[in-house]
Amino acid sequence: MLTRQQLEVNLAAVEGRVLAACARAGRSRSDVQLVAVSKRHPPELISLAFELGLRHFGENYAQELRDKHQALSTLAGLRWHAIGPVQPKNAKYVAKAAHVFHALDRLEVAEALSRRRTGAALTCFIEVNVAGEASKAGVSPAEVAPFFEQVKALPGLEVVGLTTMPPFSDDPDAARPAFRALATLAKSLGLSQLSMGTTGDFEVGIEEGATHVRVGTALFGERPPPVTAP
Ligand SMILES: *Cc1c(COP(=O)(O)O)cnc(C)c1O
Repeated sequence: MLTRQQLEVNLAAVEGRVLAACARAGRSRSDVQLVAVSKRHPPELISLAFELGLRHFGENYAQELRDKHQALSTLAGLRWHAIGPVQPKNAKYVAKAAHVFHALDRLEVAEALSRRRTGAALTCFIEVNVAGEASKAGVSPAEVAPFFEQVKALPGLEVVGLTTMPPFSDDPDAARPAFRALATLAKSLGLSQLSMGTTGDFEVGIEEGATHVRVGTALFGERPPPVTAP
């Protein structure tokens, strides 16, 4: 796990990069939410990041989100973002713990979340498979409008925008066409928010209009390997 000092250095560096990207794009820093992706890192590191001022944390796995939500329930103002696809049977954990869900891509999941959600509506991003990659989650661009209509009818969910994972590349600029296409699609649907950009390409995301960037490695370093059953 990182030391407090290492985390401070990383956070300052990421903040600097976010600010520079906002400046290049003529956007205000307050228009971009930094979501610190803490998946597979221990709750102690999240507490440390919270002490340094971070409030928005992203988790991929529903059970891990459930456990961390419980472990860190005393940190007032901490907001959980569920950023990975979820199985309908695990939707209850996301419905209970998450403030924002970034990976809505199936009606079955939307219905399960809607049934389980109590209190304020769950803010949702529809995940779009912009490049039509077989290995990727997300609805195809053509399916987004009808899917959005179906989700609108469900209580407890509020779709505010779109998200995508661009094709994998070492070159940040390779993500630009997918981000730009996502922004165009969101605009055509009257959706104002865009969750796009990770450690490798968050600056390009901001330049193309991201309102949320999901940054893990640049803040917390390499993730520990997944825990597998013996
Ligand atoms: C892990 C993950 C991230 C963070 O990735 P980094 O490269 O570590 O910044 C962002 N979004 C999703 C959906 C992820 O699964």
